[in-house]
Amino acid sequence: MDQSYWISSWIENKKQYPKLQKEESTEIAIIGGGLTGLTTAYYLTKEGREVMVLEKDKICNHTSGNTTAKITSQHGLFYYYLLQSLGKEQAKQYLEANQQAIENIANIIEEEKIECDFERQDAYVFTQKQEEIEKLKKEVEALDYLGFESELVEQIEVPIKDKQKEEKEDQINIQKKVLGAVKFKNQAQFNPCLYAQGLANKIEERKGKIYENTKVIEVKKVEEGYEIITEEGKIKAEKVVIASHYPIVNAPGFYFMKMYQVTSYLIAVETKEPLFKGMYINSEDPTISLRTAKQGEKRLLLIGRNGPQNRC
Ligand SMILES: Cc1cc2nc3c(=O)[nH]c(=O)nc-3n(C[C@H](O)[C@H](O)[C@H](O)COP(=O)(O)OP(=O)(O)OC[C@H]3O[C@@H](n4cnc5c(N)ncnc54)[C@H](O)[C@@H]3O)c2cc1C
Repeated sequence: MDQSYWISSWIENKKQYPKLQKEESTEIAIIGGGLTGLTTAYYLTKEGREVMVLEKDKICNHTSGNTTAKITSQHGLFYYYLLQSLGKEQAKQYLEANQQAIENIANIIEEEKIECDFERQDAYVFTQKQEEIEKLKKEVEALDYLGFESELVEQIEVPIKDKQKEEKEDQINIQKKVLGAVKFKNQAQFNPCLYAQGLANKIEERKGKIYENTKVIEVKKVEEGYEIITEEGKIKAEKVVIASHYPIVNAPGFYFMKMYQVTSYLIAVETKEPLFKGMYINSEDPTISLRTAKQGEKRLLLIGRNGPQNRC
């Protein structure tokens, strides 16, 4: 199957939304129906604001529908670097914002009763290289200094084995055994498409509007806000949120000058063996990212492998 497991596990029950084909107005227009746009729309409609989401394709069909969907503050070995480059206050802010985001998602799921296979899991960043162990120790020390409890562990539950010694064993084999890992307790994972559908349902219940197959072509500043031109319609909005992942306007920001492409791979497989608990990523390049997912009564193993940029 060449489609993401998240999208294929949801597509039959996915709600369809109309295409914008006329002129409308709204208080806040949100361009992009991935997790960023839908989360923004969810919070705004909760505050009673008038919102319209404009999605050029289908909601949760792009990055958000193809993600590993770990909900974690752990992004490889990051906090020692952050502490060194930005100092304690900002590193702490970043950490606390990430931790708060996990709780916010958990609270939304509980409050809105969204069934999206949300599960609490510990997260690990592991290494198979002796020279990385020092970096793992520094990461734990940095986290300790920031007031966050992490742990340096010697073993992880995933059966990553030494290839030479275990050649005949039917196990996941990524050439060398694990030498250590930094553990973050009580992180989480979910099915992002089921979550996105739950958010979309709440947005509509609170009178927010969602349009699919509605590509925004231009955003013009006008006297009392913005005019948003789509392929077949037009919207007047007091405010605009651009949540298109790749910014669709050049200025301000000129982000297109800073962007480059990377490709990463994520596969979902059924295994004969019972699967491990926890979510895993290695500290070195290229990335190996592992987690499990529910498939009815069974569990799938998700394996990500890619270039140096993706650390989830
Ligand atoms: C392989 C991989 C693994 C990842 N793993 C993790 C992980 O485990 N945990 C984690 O937290 N993050 C992870 N990430 C990152 C995470 O998936 C993204 O940060 C997140 O999904 C981005 O959501 P978004 O809504 O900003 O973008 P998107 O989901 O891409 O949504 C943007 C939307 O805007 C729409 N759009 C674009 N242009 C227009 C236009 N002109 N008009 C209207 N609509 C438009 C697009 O169609 C799209 O639907 C991973 C990313 C990748 C690629």
